[in-house]
Formats: sequence, C-alpha cells, structure tokens
Amino acid sequence: MDQMHKPGIVVAGVSGRMGRMLAQAVLESDACRLAGALERAGHPWVGQDLGTAMGGAALGIAVSDDAVATIAQAQALIDFTSPAATVAYAELTAQARAVHVIGTTGLDADDLRRIAAAARHAPIVRAGNMSLGVNLLVGLTRRVAAALGEDWDIEIVEAHHRHKVDAPSGTALMLGEAAAEGRRAPFETLRVPAREGITGARVPGSIGFSAIRGGDIVGEHDVIFAADGERVVLRHLATDRAIFARGALRAALWGQDKGPGEYDMADVLGL
Ligand code: NAP
Repeated sequence: MDQMHKPGIVVAGVSGRMGRMLAQAVLESDACRLAGALERAGHPWVGQDLGTAMGGAALGIAVSDDAVATIAQAQALIDFTSPAATVAYAELTAQARAVHVIGTTGLDADDLRRIAAAARHAPIVRAGNMSLGVNLLVGLTRRVAAALGEDWDIEIVEAHHRHKVDAPSGTALMLGEAAAEGRRAPFETLRVPAREGITGARVPGSIGFSAIRGGDIVGEHDVIFAADGERVVLRHLATDRAIFARGALRAALWGQDKGPGEYDMADVLGL
C-alpha cells in the first residue's frame, strides 16, 4: 500500500511522555502514517519539526496547535492528554467522523457525558489502560470476584511515577469496576478511594484503593482478595510505556471500519 492510502493518524499532546511514545509507534508501523502532531497553543514545540523537537532528524511534520485543520487530514486521533483537552478533541473528531482513541484518565461524569454525545457521530475507543495484560487482568478480576464470597475483602493497590496527577489510577478504577461487576454490586457506593485517621472498621463488601507515587514507576496494579487465613493476589507490572502505545495504535486501526459508538480495549482485543 502506498503511503497516502494508509490510514492517517494524528497524535495529540505529542510532547508528553505518552505522546512521544505514540508518535514513535505510528512512525514505526507499516499499517498507517503519521498525519499530524498536536500540542496546545503556546507550547514551545508548536511550529517546530516533530523529529527535531524530539531530538532526532527532521520528519517534515510540523507540530501544530490547529486541531481542526490537522484532524481534517486524518482518519484517527490518538489522545493521551488532559480531560479538558480530550473533551474538546472529542467534539472535533465527531465533526470530522474520525476515530478518537482516548487514553486520558481522570475524566469526570460531565466529561464522560460529553464524550458519549460525541460518540453518536464517530467511533470512540476509550480505556484507562491500553495494555493486553491489564485488559486480561480486568477479566480475571471479574471472574475471581464472582467466584469468591463477600468474606473475601477486595483491595486495589497501584503504584505510578511521581508526575502522575490523578488517583486512583484509571486502571485501578477499571479493576474496581470489574470486581463490583463480578459481585453484581454497585461500584460507586462500594468504592473507598483513600483512608486516613480513625476510619472505623472495614465496611463489608467495600472495595478499597491505595496509591503509591514515586520515581519512574510505569504502572503497577495488585488486586488483593483477602480472607481469614489466605489471600489471592492478581498482579500486573508495566515496565515499558510502549505497551500502551501499541494498544492505542491497534485501537486506531481497529476502529477504521466501525460505526459511531463507545468501545473499549476488550472490544479491540476481542476479549
Ligand atoms: P504528560 O507527559 O503530562 O503528557 C500530556 C501531554 O498533553 C502534554 O504534552 C501536555 O502539554 C499535552 N496537552 C495538555 N493539554 C493539551 C491540549 N489542550 N492540546 C494538546 N495537548 C495538550 O502525561 P502522560 O504521562 O503522557 O499521560 C497523559 C495521560 O495519559 C494521563 O491522563 C495518563 O493518566 C494517561 N495514560 C493512559 C494510559 C492508558 O493506557 N490509557 C497509559 C499511560 C498514561 P503540556 O505539557 O504543555 O501541558
């Protein structure tokens, strides 16, 4: 397939930790081409050649802050940015009928409502974690929670690098939701996001979260099922951000022939 007939993918927040990784993954793929790179207005990379800005050879792709024009030239946008930016991008991809792959975490109920509205016009694939391993872990958590009774307390412990701004992580929340689904219980009323001081005894059936932040930890998640006398621990360790970039790229390509709607990585991976 010649270059112009391959799906064109735009990477948003291209200077970010994930943005650079995503640009690299698209450049290395034979299945698509990098159709553009976006950053917020005023960012020092805007107007610079992407390759030069990333510290390598020029690529002939200028980093842009013009999202409308850039998305108009593409079939998909991969977006690991901030909730405010992601909601704005969802409206633009909906207008352009382009696939929107959302890795951004920390979205609130209003953000999710606006994303759902955009998904009426174009496909949106959103996951708090794009890795194959974590999406398998989500399925395992659901099954183990369904198999074990309420006398098994569920706790989720996550660790991330010092720059992460939201807690619990999007992945930890996905795991908590899966555990609640397994128990056929309402997640929102069971979640205990943090504990401090005299909290009282553990509420039976609750799902507790703990967050560790430090150094360059890419992402670690334990789902602990603790009963009297024994424990089951399901663990995922991410050691390379490339796993998220590969998953996001796979989602962008998978979405090419899909109709409008909201999808997740279980759909993409056929889990
Ligand atoms: P980061 O290094 O801070 O990168 C975010 C990037 O987005 C920055 O370059 C930021 O620019 C840019 N940005 C912010 N607002 C923008 C806008 N309006 N338009 C264009 N670009 C904008 O963070 P990160 O570690 O890459 O993580 C980004 C997000 O992905 C977080 O929500 C994180 O939790 C999530 N994440 C998800 C997965 C997954 O698999 N789903 C995996 C890893 C991370 P400035 O620096 O100028 O603000």
